[in-house]
Amino acid sequence: MESLISSLQTMPLWIAIPALLLENAIVLLLAIGWGEWVAWRYRDRRVSAIAPPLQRNEVLTAVSSVVTCTIITVIGLFLWRWQIIRFRTDVGLWAWLDVLVLLLVMDLAMYFLHRLAHHPLFYSWLHRLHHDFDRPRPLTLFILNPLENLAFGSLWLVVISLYNASWMGMSIYLMLNVLFGTMGHLGVEPFPIWWGRVPVLRYIGGSSFHARHHQDLACNFGFYTLVWDKLFGTLRKDYFESIGTVPDWVSK
Ligand SMILES: [Zn+2]
Ligand SMILES: [Zn+2]
Repeated sequence: MESLISSLQTMPLWIAIPALLLENAIVLLLAIGWGEWVAWRYRDRRVSAIAPPLQRNEVLTAVSSVVTCTIITVIGLFLWRWQIIRFRTDVGLWAWLDVLVLLLVMDLAMYFLHRLAHHPLFYSWLHRLHHDFDRPRPLTLFILNPLENLAFGSLWLVVISLYNASWMGMSIYLMLNVLFGTMGHLGVEPFPIWWGRVPVLRYIGGSSFHARHHQDLACNFGFYTLVWDKLFGTLRKDYFESIGTVPDWVSK
């Protein structure tokens, strides 16, 4: 790992940029591949109606998302080279604690950014594109206005500029971020129904959680947990009862 870190430090940009572009493209393909497999595996447990045939603009927006994510990664590389972003290389208990800290802090920060994106000042030109797809599929995770993508990415860069997390903690967090994001757009619920009755576990956001946000824009703004929605009163009232189903109030 030391050699990977030192090669990133000195790698010329003409190699670093295509390599990071490729990395982001691979992440997108893995997320869609995994998501489509889970959606097929749990096809009997739909939480939203089946997505319509794929449109050209969906694919193009997803490709633009890879470019935007790469821009954020390259900015992150520069901030690291300029020592504005620093990270630790330990792999013990503190590194695992970083995962928890990053998940909770980013969940809170993104909760507020997401609520702001729903404000009438921003919604129509910034966030509506994502909600044009009320019957999500794994690809929908990547259907974001480039400016919105940059805003979420910048939030991440600000957090890791202020908090010296471990390389391991950041890597695991980033993997979980894609995992949760994909899960929210599966259109099916892979978690068992009893999930919603187990203390602590029930506050982890499954597929039904974000599916409800696509069906009711006034609720469920969190990403990884229900904690902030619960705290700020935006959790959909019938969320726990409706896990793993398409509720009656959803027009199919
Ligand atoms: Zn939204
Ligand atoms: Zn969504």
